[in-house]
Amino acid sequence: MDFTPTRARALTRLTQFLPAAGRRYAETRNADDGPHEGGRGNVSQLSPWLHAGLIGAPEVLDAVLAQHSLRAGEKFIAEVFWRIYFKGYLEQRPAIWSDYRKGRDDALAALERNAGLRTAYAAATEGRTGIEAFDVWARELVETGYLHNHARMWFASIWIFTLRLDWRLGADFFLRHLMDADAASNTLSWRWVAGLHTKGKHYLARADNIARYTAGRPGGALAAEGLADDAEPLGEPQDYGRQRLDLPGPVTSADLAEPFALLLHDEAAHHAPLALPASPALVIGGARPEARSPGAIGTAAQSFATGALASGMAEAATAFACPAVAWRAGEPLAPLLAEAGIHRIALPYLPAGWTRDALWPEIAPLAAKGRVVAVLGDLDRATWPLAKAGFFGVAKAIDSLLAECGITGTMR
Ligand SMILES: Cc1cc2nc3c(=O)[nH]c(=O)nc-3n(C[C@H](O)[C@H](O)[C@H](O)COP(=O)(O)OP(=O)(O)OC[C@H]3O[C@@H](n4cnc5c(N)ncnc54)[C@H](O)[C@@H]3O)c2cc1C
Repeated sequence: MDFTPTRARALTRLTQFLPAAGRRYAETRNADDGPHEGGRGNVSQLSPWLHAGLIGAPEVLDAVLAQHSLRAGEKFIAEVFWRIYFKGYLEQRPAIWSDYRKGRDDALAALERNAGLRTAYAAATEGRTGIEAFDVWARELVETGYLHNHARMWFASIWIFTLRLDWRLGADFFLRHLMDADAASNTLSWRWVAGLHTKGKHYLARADNIARYTAGRPGGALAAEGLADDAEPLGEPQDYGRQRLDLPGPVTSADLAEPFALLLHDEAAHHAPLALPASPALVIGGARPEARSPGAIGTAAQSFATGALASGMAEAATAFACPAVAWRAGEPLAPLLAEAGIHRIALPYLPAGWTRDALWPEIAPLAAKGRVVAVLGDLDRATWPLAKAGFFGVAKAIDSLLAECGITGTMR
């Protein structure tokens, strides 16, 4: 599969996948048929581009609705809403992210102290546990930077309940290697598998289920012997209360009347999905893929992230006929603006996660002086407040959210 980190490649992959986004997706999406040179046929594999903001969820949904009815495309559309739901859920409970980081650091420190744990962790991440399916996915993740959703669920379940490793080390392993590594979808999915997201309801991988849904892989069905079949869900003492969302309203041309800089980052690498009402005088690119983990980032994830921002910066510079400069980690931001004589920045909204952790300390003083215009899409603004508890609150509103945001299959 060609994962070139450009908007053009995202649009090509979307067009290629669209015919399958209706009934075919609904009927076959659970099968993990293995990596395929021309791209998997049953799932879109759009997640790396979606994560990087090279393509936006609204335009993907609109393209699906241009080819399929809402009913025929409902399964695919619901999955795209899962991504938005997780973002909105974490945004209302950012302590889940900060506690994850702390728990991960403690678990990494425990590895240093305990040789037995270190050996088990190395066997898991290097694909040497002896559980065939798990080992194949561990290597596939490191080599390709992508895993099928069902494989992620099985992998996380085996990690937690059979290998009995700390879930935060597994989530960290995913973040280091997934091209689509997303603080919300990843952390909350690991918690879901563990039984922490829907309290007391965990996901136990079963060998027969794995064999059934991996039968289409080039080497045939994957074996998974010796899986735990009666493990208890994980528990935790804290209850994460919901904090009020304070989301920015739509950006108007009056907000951007003076010359401004557009700050592109790891989760918003392209200007097109942002639909800005005015043109920036400067483009700034702040790539921070290394901020996702204290450990080394995998080659596929690293090159997708840096490539996405490089292509986004180059295309924005051309589109707006303005300079583009890199804002490197550790450098102050204010001098870049001062040099260009620019006061304001348009900032694609930074949701809870490592991109925010890495960039916000430099941006906060500017925001305090009213120099930051946050840009958030209508679909996120409308959906996030509904991500209060389970997915159902979002699921039942999908039809009206699409209509409210003008996503009807006629955008392009
Ligand atoms: C343990 C675990 C960790 C995960 N970590 C991530 C992550 O770091 N980043 C990430 O983007 N997704 C994550 N997911 C969700 C999901 O596995 C991927 O989004 C999906 O596999 C991406 O492949 P695709 O683009 O072919 O999906 P498709 O099936 O084609 O779906 C289309 C789009 O919908 C969204 N989507 C689909 N399924 C889910 C889901 N279950 N949850 C949230 N969004 C979904 C994605 O944006 C995806 O690109 C994780 C799931 C699990 C179980």
